[in-house]
Amino acid sequence: MTIHNLYIFDRHCQCIYFQKWTHSKSSNNATTTSSSNNGTSNNNSQLGNSNSRLGGLATSSRFSTSSAASSIAEQSSPNANSLIRSEDNHQTGITQQSGLAAGSVISIEEEAKLVYGVVLSLRNFVRKLSGNQDGFISYKTSTYRLHYYETPTGLKFVMNSDPNTESLRMVLKQIHIQLYVEFVVKNGLMRFDDTRWEISLVTAGLTALSGAAYYLSTDRDRFIEVFQEDQHPPYLALHPQRGGSKQLPVSNYYIDDTQEENKKPRLVIIGSGWGAVSVVKNLDKEKYNVTIISDNNYFLFTPLLPSATVGTLELRSLLEPVRKIASRVHAHFLEGRAVDIDLDYKYVEVHGCNEKENFYVPYDKLIVAVGATSMTHGVEGIEHTVRLKTIRDAIDIRRKIIENVEKACLPTTTPEERKRLLSFVVCGGGPTGVEFAAEVSDWVNEDLVEWFPKLIRKEISIHIIQSRDHILNTFDSKISDYAEKRFERDHINVITNSRVVPMTSFAKNLTEKLPVQAHKRVLTTDNFLKLQGLRDVYALGDCATIENPNLLQHIMEFIQEADTDKDGSIQFNEFLAICDTMRSRFPLTEQHLTHLEKMFIKYDTDKNGVLDIEELKIMLKDIDSKMTNLPATAQVASQQGQYLAKYLNNLENSKDELSTQTQVGPFRYSHLGTLAYLGNTAVGDFKWGYQMIGGLWALYLWRSIYWSEQVSMRTRLNLSMDWSKCAIWGRDISTV
Ligand code: FAD
Ligand code: MG
Repeated sequence: MTIHNLYIFDRHCQCIYFQKWTHSKSSNNATTTSSSNNGTSNNNSQLGNSNSRLGGLATSSRFSTSSAASSIAEQSSPNANSLIRSEDNHQTGITQQSGLAAGSVISIEEEAKLVYGVVLSLRNFVRKLSGNQDGFISYKTSTYRLHYYETPTGLKFVMNSDPNTESLRMVLKQIHIQLYVEFVVKNGLMRFDDTRWEISLVTAGLTALSGAAYYLSTDRDRFIEVFQEDQHPPYLALHPQRGGSKQLPVSNYYIDDTQEENKKPRLVIIGSGWGAVSVVKNLDKEKYNVTIISDNNYFLFTPLLPSATVGTLELRSLLEPVRKIASRVHAHFLEGRAVDIDLDYKYVEVHGCNEKENFYVPYDKLIVAVGATSMTHGVEGIEHTVRLKTIRDAIDIRRKIIENVEKACLPTTTPEERKRLLSFVVCGGGPTGVEFAAEVSDWVNEDLVEWFPKLIRKEISIHIIQSRDHILNTFDSKISDYAEKRFERDHINVITNSRVVPMTSFAKNLTEKLPVQAHKRVLTTDNFLKLQGLRDVYALGDCATIENPNLLQHIMEFIQEADTDKDGSIQFNEFLAICDTMRSRFPLTEQHLTHLEKMFIKYDTDKNGVLDIEELKIMLKDIDSKMTNLPATAQVASQQGQYLAKYLNNLENSKDELSTQTQVGPFRYSHLGTLAYLGNTAVGDFKWGYQMIGGLWALYLWRSIYWSEQVSMRTRLNLSMDWSKCAIWGRDISTV
């Protein structure tokens, strides 16, 4: 094979070197030269025998002329010199031109080495071309034949072996394109070479400039626009009339009301937690004039709250302003605490955050999503503990832990006091308690040991108190066993406790006003989340529970519906029909209606192949006794919120509660699983029996799940940065 051109491109596909040979017509010359010089015999034998049509290349503006080669020869190493000279000897057989591409930034020494390398490499390549093809790619198209080789350092050698190439510029262009495509495929589009950087910078600069110009040109208009709107807020929004049974100001209009908004039915949502936010995120924005009332103007991502108590995550990374979430449905937000409800006028009484006179907020539909407060559960002395429920609790805990450790470091602290200060007790072995204990343990083992005296680490003790036999007792026993073993390894002392969901004062107030709710420990709703005993009021999340159906009470209805042959007993197909009815009317029964064949056999005690009334009674009684309330979790609140938004969207279309109930159906909870962080690892009990027990991948899966559950990209970015900061520099140990 005859080589006519050699091009060398750098890692960024910039042509940094080229070389071309004009071959003499006589093959004898080449052969003679070959035999006269051992060092290049291989080259020569390969390079003879072809006509040169490549003269035009050296005049190409991209390349310097062959004089570059001689200047290299003059300044290069002895080796390079001898090699260049040896090539000169062959000028009888081959005319050689070489040079550096214009614009290449390369020192003379490097250039010389490069030439030396090229010639050596060339010899090897040619060898390879003739025999071993490893590392070589040959391109053959209708217009050119190219051989391509890339060194491990990224240099790309391209040789042209086609003497009939008409236009070398075209060939070069194609080589460039080919290499560029390969470069992009290999390195991805994100790699910029210098030119692309320049383009990017210029584009960014131009964008910034045009943005600034636009801002300056419209700034005055915007100011006037806002100013004009401020001039005409509804008069009654600023001077509310009094009304209701307590003659308080009634907020019939808001300062950010529009006329269209005012025509829509008023939907008031109390709370800004999981339940409320889930409703807002799924509500049809055209249907209601929404008002959110909450004593916090943010949504708190509670599942990651334990991480904020020791500074793994910053507090602000867990918060999303309600106003941003509310803007989706153009909702009004009022920061204040709902304290009472005027059922006759359909008003909610609010104590505003300005601490002035209470006011009323009228509603057509009301959603109560006030969550729950923590309960002492009769544990003596628990009022002296710090709870973990709100963002302020997390701040208090973080400060308390570091303060205690700092106090323990003082010379005046006695050994007994030090032991007490460094003893952390967590009440509750559910997921929250376990996660908090794990976070404290992480902090102690990763940060405290590094920055505080060694004695402190020795004296620190973490205890977790659980009233049941095992921690994480709602998880599979394999998972709770693993958690206990892991805690033993991390020196977390497991003792005993349980979970707590008592009512907020507003919810208590509401139950006292409604006879059906009286003396209940939580607001009860029907299967459509409608508060029992009230029209147009719905409740969801921790503050409410769906009334368990008393199946036994419905036994006659079930029999009448299913007993099609009217023989007073239930055959298997009729039994299946009863189960279907129970499932669709009372979705909570679903989990107890599995393995129906076995169930039928079990309750058919006299084994006559049918269930009589007595047998059916026993079965319904058993299911009633097994029925438990849905857990007080974000997962339940969020699914209820989605359901309620769908229900209300539908209700506004049909205007009829019954047809909405038929169309939407009752609320069904789908348990996706439970997760818990255990200190640099996590456990999870998922739907369909999948489990995750420890390992580094579990930690990342746990993080990914909560990362994806975030309500905004801002909090996602914050979380990513917090986790990275913690991994690189550890947690912040200062108290402010
Ligand atoms: P909340 O989210 O508590 O929201 C109640 C809202 O109502 C708050 O915004 C509050 O300010 C407001 N409010 C209360 N009273 C009034 C009033 N009178 N007037 C106006 N506004 C009022 N669940 C999980 O599924 N997975 C977990 O990993 C998990 N981890 C948790 C970790 C911690 C530390 C905690 C505390 C809870 C955790 N939970 C978890 C439970 C979950 O947070 C709750 O079940 C969920 O928040 C319930 O949602 P909600 O909307 O009913 O109430
Ligand atoms: Mg029958």
